[in-house]
Amino acid sequence: MQITMQIAPPNWKKIMSSFKIAILSGDGIGPEISKQAVRVLKSLEKKNSHVFECQELEFGANAYFANGKSFPNDTKRACDDADAILKGPIGLSHYESEKIPLEERPERGALLPLRRRLNTYANFRPILLPKSMTHFSPLKSKVVGEGIDIIMIRELIGGLYFGVKERGKNINGVRYAKETLEYDEQQIRQILIVAFEQAMKRKKLLHNIHKNNVLVSSVLWNEICDEISQDYPAVTVVHMLVDAAATHLCLNPSQFDVMVMENMFGDILSDQGGGILGSLGLMPSACLGHDKAYYEPSHGSAPDIAGQNIANPYSMIGSVALMLEMSFGLISEAKTIWNAMHSIFDDGFVTHDLAEDNIDSAILSTSQFGDKVIEKIKIVGA
Ligand code: NAD
Repeated sequence: MQITMQIAPPNWKKIMSSFKIAILSGDGIGPEISKQAVRVLKSLEKKNSHVFECQELEFGANAYFANGKSFPNDTKRACDDADAILKGPIGLSHYESEKIPLEERPERGALLPLRRRLNTYANFRPILLPKSMTHFSPLKSKVVGEGIDIIMIRELIGGLYFGVKERGKNINGVRYAKETLEYDEQQIRQILIVAFEQAMKRKKLLHNIHKNNVLVSSVLWNEICDEISQDYPAVTVVHMLVDAAATHLCLNPSQFDVMVMENMFGDILSDQGGGILGSLGLMPSACLGHDKAYYEPSHGSAPDIAGQNIANPYSMIGSVALMLEMSFGLISEAKTIWNAMHSIFDDGFVTHDLAEDNIDSAILSTSQFGDKVIEKIKIVGA
């Protein structure tokens, strides 16, 4: 995997050997997969001279039930103080969510405020399936070919999710809801520059995903994309409507390399990315600001499988690898994690979400997958 945007200064590794990490384990499967991620992180500490100082904090529904706030002040302070943040998924089932007042529900009360606070405007969502794992994809083998290797870059702190929201009754007494999708030129420019830079480091191919046939925000977005492309003559830009992109992802994913899009398009299309890999459990992500970043799986808290030790921790351990590379410049340590995880699948093991043939001996629980990653790291070193 080639992800080269880093917020760590290139020589940080030489300057620093101790890193302060805020751990927000989250809800549902969050604590189970976070536990494995922290174990893997700590196993690298033993191999190297690094110290990963991890502080566990409440965040999400667990925080609300413990003290009435889903993003408590202590957690805010610890996040501000940390070198990076590792976050598990948050949220509850539809029924359980009803027990929390709207403003304190995990997304509204914790997740969006975290993104806004850290100004994490660039969300990197790698959609990666090495050749040896292509059998996990529900797509035909001739479609998956040599594997899938796409980076989706999603704008994370603007658009519909952050616009003005309003509810009420109109003059006819009919209930209505209204929310606004707003982007300004600077917001669009900063995410597109990240995408062009990423394209320059990969295949110099950028798919700009939009909906300019109905949304005026996409018209502005595309205008700015064309302006910026003048500074990147080596990058081929393909403008594609978001609905068409959804189809092309299933029919011919290998045409894509770097894709960039606004917030809601990225939310939806990246889940489809998990679908073409075979599971959302294979979807880590990095959320980057100018000087702060947090790392989380792309998926939610999976209440349907929580507490059973069957969730796939790849997404969370992969988020550790992204953190090591992008926040700390620890590129070889990150590579060690990817290699360890991929070789577990190469050895014929699967996680529950990817198991098809029910050969029980080959199915790994959440904690067994963590054990195997650590074993592999011990063998190869980092
Ligand atoms: P989900 O992503 O939690 O689950 C969708 C499906 O994928 C489920 O069948 C689940 O079992 C499966 N799945 C997800 N991650 C998996 C893993 N690591 N291993 C194996 N299977 C996995 O989506 P949902 O059920 O719609 O949402 C549940 C809660 O998560 C909701 O409260 C939602 O708001 C929240 N959510 C949080 C985040 C976040 O914290 N960033 C993101 C998305 C959804």
